[in-house]
This record gives sequence, C-alpha cells and structure tokens, in this order.
Amino acid sequence: MTSTPVARPDEVRRYNRSSLLRLLHVGGPCTRATLATELGLNRSTIKTLVDGLAEAGVVVERVPRPGRGAGRPSLLVLPQPEAAVVLAVDVQVEHVAIALVGLGGQILGRNSWNLHGRGREPAEVLTHVIESTTLLAADLAVKPVAGGISVPGVVRRSDGHVHEAPNLRWSDIALGERLAAALDMPVVAGNDAELGALAEHLRGAARDASDAVFVSADIGVGGGVIAQGTPLRGAGGYVGEIGHMVVRPRGRSCYCGNEGCWETEVGEAALCRALGLPDDSPRGTIVVALRDLGRDPAAARGTLAEFAEWLTLGLVNVVNLLGPELVVLGDLFTALPDTVLDHVGAEVRRRSLVSRAIGGVRIEKSSLGADVKLLGAAEAAFEGVLDTV
Ligand SMILES: [Zn+2]
Repeated sequence: MTSTPVARPDEVRRYNRSSLLRLLHVGGPCTRATLATELGLNRSTIKTLVDGLAEAGVVVERVPRPGRGAGRPSLLVLPQPEAAVVLAVDVQVEHVAIALVGLGGQILGRNSWNLHGRGREPAEVLTHVIESTTLLAADLAVKPVAGGISVPGVVRRSDGHVHEAPNLRWSDIALGERLAAALDMPVVAGNDAELGALAEHLRGAARDASDAVFVSADIGVGGGVIAQGTPLRGAGGYVGEIGHMVVRPRGRSCYCGNEGCWETEVGEAALCRALGLPDDSPRGTIVVALRDLGRDPAAARGTLAEFAEWLTLGLVNVVNLLGPELVVLGDLFTALPDTVLDHVGAEVRRRSLVSRAIGGVRIEKSSLGADVKLLGAAEAAFEGVLDTV
C-alpha cells in the first residue's frame, strides 16, 4: 500500500516563508493583505511569517507615505536590503563590472574596470574580482552570502565551468568553483544572455511575459529563453546559442567552425561594416555613429538595410523555433535607430508563421540597459539564498 507524502508543518512554514520573501524581493514592498491574496494564505499565517521575518531583521513594516485616500493606511512590508547581500559579476569582452546587491534587488555599491591594457587571463580577472569585492564589501560594511557571474560564453550551469568564451579567449576554466573557493560562498556562473533573460523576466521588459527570448549583442550574439515562466536550459544548460544559427551558407567563417553564422551578420563587427567603421571600433564610437544616423530616418534605413535584413531573418527563425510572445533586444541592438527596429519588428511579424498565429510577437529593447547582466547574475545568486535567509 502506498501513501501520499504529507508535508511536515515546518516544511510548509519554510516553503511559505521563502515564497513570501521571493514575492517581496521581486515585487517590492506590499501590504499584508496583498501578500495574503498573492500567496493564497490566510491573514494569521501571514502575520506569523511577517512577525518572524521582522524579528530576524529581514523585513520591516512602515506606514506608507500619506496618500489621497481616507482612513488609516495599511502598513507596508519592506525587504531589508542588508538582510541578504549577493555579489554580481558581469564579465564582458572589454569590461568587468561587479556589484553588491541587497534583498529586493537594490544595487548597494558597484565597481568596474576596463580590460584594455589589463590582463584578460582568467586568473587576473578573478584576482581583480576578488580584490574589488573585498574592498566594496568593507566599504559598505556588508558580507555577501552568494555570488553570480555572467560570462559571454558556453557555461555549464551545474558547476560554472566555462567550456568556451571565445571572445575572451577562455576555454575550460572552472570559473564558478574557483570564485566560490576564493570567496568561501556558493557562486553560480551562467551565460550572459541566459542571465540577461532572467533579469528581464524578473525586473525588466519581460516581467509580464511567460514566454520570452532575450537576445544579447556584444561582440557575439546569444540568446536566453524563458519558457512558461521559467528559464529553458537544455542539456547541460547550453540552450540559446542562437548566434551560431547558420543563416548564410558559404558565408563568413565563424570561430565555431561554421560559415555564415547569424553572429557574423549581426554581431558588432557586422554592424561596424554596415556603418563604414573599422571592425574593431570601440563601443562608444559605434553608439555615437548609430545615434547620428538615427537623426535621418531615411538614411538610417538605407545604410542599415542589409544589416536589418539579416537581423530580421535570424529573428524570424528564433520566433518560429521558440514561440515567444516577446523578444527583448539587448546591448548594442538597443542603440539601433528606432526606425530600423520598427521596420525589423514589422517584417518579423509579417514573415513569421508563429508570430501571425499568436497575433504578433512583440519586439522591444531591453529596459534594464547596461545593468541587465549584472542584475541577472544577482538573481541567479539569490535563487539559492531566499530559502535560507
Ligand atoms: Zn558560429
């Protein structure tokens, strides 16, 4: 005879507590009544949970600023940022940023440096990350309890092993384990587009979308996928290498071994070619050129016509394959003139069968800007923290 396992009261309490914290962490301050409604719990259970968290210093309750409504206002439950602080690291090809992020998602402090002229070797980057973290934590008088690190490469989710980060010239680096050992805390390492998708889903443009794709466009192009409200991982966590969809047979050679990958047509070098700039132009130069071009919509559409066509073609494939209701364009794509993005969006909606079937996929720019991967790395770190605060 089998019996249905029954959750023990302490397990139920722990589950409810972490659900409540997750709600406050992502959604921000709210009243006990809202918490009760959102979590489907009765008021006395919420009171017990909130009282316990307040006693532990994880939340506080405050009277909201006076509004126009009459009557006594309900107390707001606020997460205390210092109650759980995580380290977020965003390693880009030219640049590294770190931040200490508190419960509720607030960046408490940050530091960043260019990799020009500095060592780009993994050991040098790690040393600098560790030193900067120690200094920042001392400055802020906080102690991070977990870390997340974003890398533009193929990263094994289970242990943060970087198989390849070609634009950094990294391969086979036990990045997650090394950082975890040095800082003596758990560290999650992930692909930059995957973490970008997580951030946009929790805090950005894809907040209300349960099926979304985030497209990152640095030197390389990658994708992160949210399917039915959760990150799509694939075997080993490697899903989303959309920059290496072959879109142009016998096209340009790509480091991955193929020719005509999407990345060779819409990555940073391709954008430079379209703008008549040298392939290795600094990011600032490219952004300024795009802004100038955007002042003359007709010229922008003309100059970027071929680039826009490759962008459209790849996005049609992405939408047909993954069926998102929303595609969020990040990084360099956010600097494209609006007239070009509007045209690309309209063409994707016209040419994608899936888009037509769902009444038109939305294509929007990232709303988190340059911090998207930093915030994603923080959220990856928080995943293991909210159960234990
Ligand atoms: Zn490739």
